[in-house]
Amino acid sequence: MMGVEVCLLPDWAAQRRGMVNTQLLGRGIRDARVLRAMGEIPREEFVPAGLRPMSYQDDPVPLGDAQTISQPYMTALMAQELELTGTETVLEVGAGSGYAAAVLGALARRVVSIDIVPAMAQLARQNLRRTARDGNVTVLEGDGSLGCAEMAPFDAISVAAGTLEVPAALLDQLGDPGRMVIPVGPRDDQELRVVLKSGGRVESRFSTLCRFVPLRGGEGWS
Ligand code: SAH
Repeated sequence: MMGVEVCLLPDWAAQRRGMVNTQLLGRGIRDARVLRAMGEIPREEFVPAGLRPMSYQDDPVPLGDAQTISQPYMTALMAQELELTGTETVLEVGAGSGYAAAVLGALARRVVSIDIVPAMAQLARQNLRRTARDGNVTVLEGDGSLGCAEMAPFDAISVAAGTLEVPAALLDQLGDPGRMVIPVGPRDDQELRVVLKSGGRVESRFSTLCRFVPLRGGEGWS
């Protein structure tokens, strides 16, 4: 009998294209660089092995320890709101899987991503190295609610955990001009806010409703 080999490996590239078309383009993500980066970066490599089939679903993916990789649309929207051109130094607070850091790394000159949970910093570092996305992305372990004074100022800051108020340290470490995206509000429901610093003035505007895990640490939830 002739054997027929059937390859049941998922077609990740096709799933990724589907995500870009339906979840991102379909909902108004227009920044071509964001669309290209998310069309190239293998999100499945940042998803825990047992959950890979969820890689391109329209949902956050659990990372363990009550943390999640944000929904693809949210990662795209945050990146788009930062209006990166490729010259910026970016601080990310909440490295998690390292996926958003990889996306930001494709859009900016340099990314510093910090996580307060040592195991998460480790996970992000491993995933970034495995996917060769660690060239311009550094993962640090520490309390990102206090920013990273040694490397400030930052042209852009992306905060991937929710807080009641914009931490003063982050506002301080935001360059002028600078842009920050941050989920602000009570534990269970926040608004994504875009904070703009320019000419010594700070303005902020609403972007979308959202729900992030709590920002811990000195200027976060205790
Ligand atoms: N951007 C990540 C998802 C982040 S989930 C991704 O793409 O996968 C939120 C992360 O914020 C968690 O890993 C959590 O440990 C981290 N976190 C919470 N409070 C923090 C703080 N004060 N400083 C740094 N990281 C923090």
